[in-house]
Amino acid sequence: MRYLVVSDIHGNAPALEAVLQDSPEFDGMICLGDMVGYGPNPNECVSRLGDFDLVCLAGNHDWGAIGKADLLIFNREARHALTWTQSVMRPTVAEYLKGLPPMQALMDGVVLAHGSPRDPVWEYLVDGASAAQNFEQFDFRTALVGHSHLPLVHELLEDDGRVRLLRAEVGMMVHLENRRLILNPGSVGQPRDGDPRASFAFLDTDQMTWSFRRVSYPVTITQERMRAQGLPQRLIDRLEVGR
Ligand code: ZN
Repeated sequence: MRYLVVSDIHGNAPALEAVLQDSPEFDGMICLGDMVGYGPNPNECVSRLGDFDLVCLAGNHDWGAIGKADLLIFNREARHALTWTQSVMRPTVAEYLKGLPPMQALMDGVVLAHGSPRDPVWEYLVDGASAAQNFEQFDFRTALVGHSHLPLVHELLEDDGRVRLLRAEVGMMVHLENRRLILNPGSVGQPRDGDPRASFAFLDTDQMTWSFRRVSYPVTITQERMRAQGLPQRLIDRLEVGR
């Protein structure tokens, strides 16, 4: 199977559309959660994903939007955006989000989690130590995670138990066989690595390869939609710098 892998779309429909246009041909789609929150098109993003053969997880913002997570856990701007998201969310979209797990197996040895295998909704895997603990506690070969909005590769160095952390470069291809990895495709709708382009990945489970990809999208259209809905200025500004 060839999968388009996305995460943290956050209601950014122009970014999602650019990713769909840019992706090589795929058989199925994997979404690692946080389809809503921050951005102006939560309903459109969730229903667009329904056009595809989809394996989908819930993230912390999805939980916030459907009342499964206390909004006080979120910072002020995220809370504002989630309260707005709740006010516009279609009941069918809310029902769909309620049925999603935050973690599931894709195939033998490959696990999907929004945050991390040991704390699927909330843990940010951005350092070697916490990744090492996840490798130790579980026996997955490959884990695909989102949540940090950073395209990353964590590789367990099996001889000494340490974890090598790589910032992914655009176009970088990773071979999955004979090693243990935690991979993050980065964020479609709100990248935070200083590159405003939508970040995603392409997974081929026949070849056992993973490639990082990046595509520009019309940031100003998303920003105008956010402004029209009165969403917080800081959330609008950060899209053009990818921070
Ligand atoms: Zn997110």
